[in-house]
Amino acid sequence: MEARQCRRCKKLFQFAGNPLCHSCVKEMDKKFNEVRDYLYDNPDSGIEEVCEAVGVETADIHRWLTEGRLILAHGSSIVMHCEKCGAPIQTGKLCDQCLGKLHNKLQEAADILKPPEPKKPLSIKEEGRMHLEIRKK
Ligand SMILES: [Zn+2]
Ligand SMILES: [Zn+2]
Repeated sequence: MEARQCRRCKKLFQFAGNPLCHSCVKEMDKKFNEVRDYLYDNPDSGIEEVCEAVGVETADIHRWLTEGRLILAHGSSIVMHCEKCGAPIQTGKLCDQCLGKLHNKLQEAADILKPPEPKKPLSIKEEGRMHLEIRKK
């Protein structure tokens, strides 16, 4: 496995497809629940207010919204817009109409295209490897 720097805490960790290390993933899961609970209790609060109350970045909330993990309540003052037509939406990137159209297109594309082969690293260059040494003195 490959060692990478965690996007959030900058620690090195074993990369397994997620840009965050295990403790940050756990931490963000906790934050996600807090944000969801906060929005549930305070549906009319704005995005900055939520960020301040829970201690997350607006980008985190936007990501959860576009991922469809976080869903805004009716009457929420946080407004998301459909990337295609600009209609107000409560989660994801597209409104139901555009999503429906996209789904049809994806279906057509899926019929034509074969699923992509999983990518395999060609070879590991030994000389390109970093040697990390911690020296105590
Ligand atoms: Zn981390
Ligand atoms: Zn739309």
